[in-house]
Amino acid sequence: RDDTFNSFIAEPAVTLDGASISLMANVEGAQEMDQANAMHAEGVGLFRTEGIFLRHHGYPPESVQYDAYRAVVEAAGEEPVIIRTLDVGGDKTIGDDKVKDDNSFMGFRAIRFCLGNEAIFKTQLRAILRASAHGNVKIMYPMISGISELRMANQLLSSTKQELRESGEAFDENIQVGAMVEVPSAAVIIDLLAAETDFLSIGTNDLIQYLIAVDRLNDQVAHLYDPAHPAVLRTLKAIIDGANDAKTPISVCGEIAGDPIYAGLLLGMGADSLSLTSSLLPEVKYFIRHIKKSDAQELVAEVMQLSDSNEIIQRLEAFRREAL
Ligand code: PEP
Ligand code: MG
Repeated sequence: RDDTFNSFIAEPAVTLDGASISLMANVEGAQEMDQANAMHAEGVGLFRTEGIFLRHHGYPPESVQYDAYRAVVEAAGEEPVIIRTLDVGGDKTIGDDKVKDDNSFMGFRAIRFCLGNEAIFKTQLRAILRASAHGNVKIMYPMISGISELRMANQLLSSTKQELRESGEAFDENIQVGAMVEVPSAAVIIDLLAAETDFLSIGTNDLIQYLIAVDRLNDQVAHLYDPAHPAVLRTLKAIIDGANDAKTPISVCGEIAGDPIYAGLLLGMGADSLSLTSSLLPEVKYFIRHIKKSDAQELVAEVMQLSDSNEIIQRLEAFRREAL
């Protein structure tokens, strides 16, 4: 099976009826770039920067972050690298008392933590901006729940750019800035977010837990964590439609992007790219190359009519079997 999948790895991710979707890699550092490149990932759709913070004792200084970001950017060559700003809290904790307090999934997490700790955030933004002089870098904010968080983060980004200009440091003046869509409120105001971002990426891991109110880490409610829940499918469709209407590129970087049955569905809904663990890329690409986008669109229309997620999963699995 692996040989079958791998024989297509250098080919583009194009459907039988000529629709393309770009398949990018989720990485946590340069150590994963050899594999991403070997799998012909079209860049990095999600660079989770938490690892750099968790591995370092205390907060890593700008130079340590710059080196880590630059290494990934250089390994990606011409391809884009979407660097996500610090997403601590929830399932990711730093051994620091600032984060220890109320770091639950609904607490002082991700962009909330960064906006509350400007010095830490600006150090990261400086390091990312400086790394942008070495390739195609984009910045992405996690856990955006409303437009004011986006604007506040952008304000800090512009003042950071100004400081770099004044000290003569090189960076990409036209760096693109995007947001994760992973909080239900962001999904509901997708038109507003799409109007003020260069790109969007759906974080289904969090979006599903917040939509269904099911903690990602609690085994007792794990059975309720259901990517095929009709509420999830409707929300995904609304986000993708909203982004497409605004002509804002829309990606999916949660775990479902690495599962062919959902990858086909997301293609049918109109996602422009998927970002996934590199090791899953061959199978997803193989599947994309064996389906028609028009069939995937029909599949979307069909499953949107179903009320039971077991039926939805059966239909998605049947679609995969028919294709392969
Ligand atoms: C997500 O929430 O889907 C996501 C990609 O981010 P993380 O898993 O790092 O929270
Ligand atoms: Mg997330």
